Amino acid sequence: MKAELSVKTDSRNQLVDITSRVEEFIGDNGIEDGIVIVYTPHTTAGITINEDADPSVRSDITNFLSKLIPHEAGFSHAEGNSDSHIKSTLTGASETIVIENGRLILGRWQGIYFCEYDGPRSRRVILKAISG
Ligand code: ZN
Repeated sequence: MKAELSVKTDSRNQLVDITSRVEEFIGDNGIEDGIVIVYTPHTTAGITINEDADPSVRSDITNFLSKLIPHEAGFSHAEGNSDSHIKSTLTGASETIVIENGRLILGRWQGIYFCEYDGPRSRRVILKAISG
């Protein structure tokens, strides 16, 4: 089973919680056991799993990455967004989550995030579930 989510972002760097949308996909398709791959086909975005209790964790992550990789750091790439590409590579384009008894196995404080590093934009997230 496969689905595509549309994620709209409203700033250059932003983590968007998509956990409930992944859970909805699992529920709608009646997947009891297996895995789901959450993947984004963009070179300036990423997917990560991290804390969803305190929203300041999200801003700490994006703020620290921006401090670590400044926008204007003398990169060669003519498009001027090498910082976004590097953040994307550090984050990775996908996560795989195990499904058991119709639910995602996530820790109590974990959420699934779409990571925007060159927004605002309209982005795609691909969900692919494999039963078994
Ligand atoms: Zn570029």
